[in-house]
Amino acid sequence: MLKKPKCPVITLEEHYWDRELAETFSGSDATRGEELIKRLYDLGELRIKEMDEAGIDIQVLSHAAPATQKLSGDGAVAFARRVNDRLAAAVARYPKRFAAFAVLPTSDPKAAADELERTVKLGFKGAMIHGLANGLFLDDPRFLPIFERAEKLDVPLYLHPSVPHPAVLEVYYKDYVKDYPSLIRAAWGYTVETATGAIRLVLSGLFDTHPKLKIILGHLGETLPFLLARIDESLSRPGHKPVKFREVFSNHFWITTSGFFSDPALLCCVMEMGVDRILFSVDWPFVANTAGTRWMESVPLSDEDKVKILGGNAKRLLRM
Ligand code: ZN
Repeated sequence: MLKKPKCPVITLEEHYWDRELAETFSGSDATRGEELIKRLYDLGELRIKEMDEAGIDIQVLSHAAPATQKLSGDGAVAFARRVNDRLAAAVARYPKRFAAFAVLPTSDPKAAADELERTVKLGFKGAMIHGLANGLFLDDPRFLPIFERAEKLDVPLYLHPSVPHPAVLEVYYKDYVKDYPSLIRAAWGYTVETATGAIRLVLSGLFDTHPKLKIILGHLGETLPFLLARIDESLSRPGHKPVKFREVFSNHFWITTSGFFSDPALLCCVMEMGVDRILFSVDWPFVANTAGTRWMESVPLSDEDKVKILGGNAKRLLRM
């Protein structure tokens, strides 16, 4: 059991499956082991037991990938609403233990913006978007209404990975995916695609026109904190349109520790981003809660900094 600091321990990349939505998943999105499926469908006793065992007070719940990012057509908006309403009911059953990020029907960006507003009024803390939205990176101008609304509501959007684009799978990964299925997911494919999406958002100028927009990345920032200096220097060379990459990234992005419990990686993030931008998360049930909280006990940071990472920063960012 974690020696509890004087703050609630909050995790914010903690997944579940909605039955109706998960039934739309196909291929590798739909195949999960029995133990994982049991936990993904649990929004009560088992989940809370494993939170208690690890000393986690609050999970901010989010659907697992690809969530609603592959839904399209007339029904997608109503579908996302039903999923969010069921999640709101789950949070209402355990209001002291759960909070939530919404799913958004990105195939209809204006409706997605309205759904973000509707769910925030229900108490949601923001929304999570998984990988390419209906095949597109989020810097596509069609998605602007979602970012505008998030800024207006002052809630963050959490950009979560999903399985990469089929053309990327073919060219980059297919030779190794049979022997190493995680290669296209947490081991590398997720990281490359999510980091690319984040870089594209900065280059699009979105943050110049939306100076209060807040973005969360999991997995200690999908390598970007480690690479910030190099990206920034390269993009500043002659022949480039002006962009203050490092400044924009550091001002608009928060990162979580989801599934990435490494002292050297964390210390790099602290040095590059500052401790106020780092939020503890697990990525349950894909990763065990106890692995995260045991690691936090031993990270070489002061208790004050640990309190910020474990819950203080989340309380401020999500207004909890
Ligand atoms: Zn995750």
